[in-house]
Amino acid sequence: MDVSDYKKNSVILKPERDKHVRNKHPWVFMGAIASYPEFEDGDILPVVTAKGEFVGYGYFHKGQSIAGRMFSFTDDYPIHSLAKNIKNAIALRAKIIPPETNAYRLINGEGDDLPGLIVDRYADVLVMQINTLGMEKLKPFLLETLKRELGELPVYEKSGSQTRRREGLQEAEGWIDGQGPAAVEVIEHGLKFKVVLEGSQKTGFFLDQREMRQMVRGLASGRNVLNCFSYTGGFSVYAAAGGAEKVDSVDISDSAVAGARENFKINNLEEKAGGFYTQDVLEFLHIRTKPGQYDFIILDPPAFAKRASDVHNASRGYTQLNQAAMEKLPAGGFLLTSSCSAHIPADLFQTLIFHAAKHAGRNVKIISRHAIAADHPVSLFYP
Ligand code: SAH
Repeated sequence: MDVSDYKKNSVILKPERDKHVRNKHPWVFMGAIASYPEFEDGDILPVVTAKGEFVGYGYFHKGQSIAGRMFSFTDDYPIHSLAKNIKNAIALRAKIIPPETNAYRLINGEGDDLPGLIVDRYADVLVMQINTLGMEKLKPFLLETLKRELGELPVYEKSGSQTRRREGLQEAEGWIDGQGPAAVEVIEHGLKFKVVLEGSQKTGFFLDQREMRQMVRGLASGRNVLNCFSYTGGFSVYAAAGGAEKVDSVDISDSAVAGARENFKINNLEEKAGGFYTQDVLEFLHIRTKPGQYDFIILDPPAFAKRASDVHNASRGYTQLNQAAMEKLPAGGFLLTSSCSAHIPADLFQTLIFHAAKHAGRNVKIISRHAIAADHPVSLFYP
């Protein structure tokens, strides 16, 4: 195509509003767009600057504040670029997944230049989460490409994000290619976990905490561990495998607690398993926990700030929770604390933990910082 063709068929950016996208940021905001060609929502379109310079390809949805999501900044056929991005994502995992691990994030949305798409691999099952109309339209192509790259694997869809609702899509859950088991046994760092697909949280397992779980394993020897927000006992099983004296697990969900019990059993770690409590964590810390009872407390709560407007209350929540844990730890105790709130940046979180320590009257040192597992790459252009 020459420049005039591009202008006819392309999304044209406003002058002064194109820097973002020229810097390979994948999002094209509504306010940065001067004009659209004829198209249907979800279609792939080329993008040009006001001067007609070609920028790349994305898929578009009019009326959304993030109106476009870019997946290529070359002029290769867009479908070839998408296939290449999928191949690259798979190739990266082959280099970075630790030994004795068959559960990992295969495709991490924008971090793999595939905005709106998450694919997790659980042994021989794929779990797919589609968050945008553009990716929804590409579903047949995605399934075909995954099959070509990985062979015949059953694919379970678990799409229920807020972004998806904003894009006008219904929640979707169920097998979309082949049929696999309702629950899959996976291996992570040599430990076994049962991942229930239907009705479970996220895509079934919190893969992003893998490296932190391994760290807990290395620090747990001889400790009395309390795993708060334990879900299916990820941290608990690692602590037990690392030689903890006893591990108690607390979660508000019955099925999560049942899953934790089961995961101790399949790893033959039952003698290390302490109590499994279905209870609110703050209540558990305030009412059931004696000072000094645990010398290693793990806090991995759900996101307290799901929206920017939640930040104030969420901040108070994080401070209270961490204070409650610190008040119960003996001198020399360990606390592993985390936040998965996108609206709470790391420096704010550290400030909240500082407030908790101040209120609890404790001296606290940071011995390690959280690292999100390597199979969740972050694009430097979209940090
Ligand atoms: N650490 C886990 C993941 C935790 S996800 C892992 O590595 O696998 C957060 C968990 O917190 C969910 O299982 C959810 O059921 C639980 N939860 C949410 N609110 C809670 C509360 N107030 N008290 C206890 N558990 C809660």
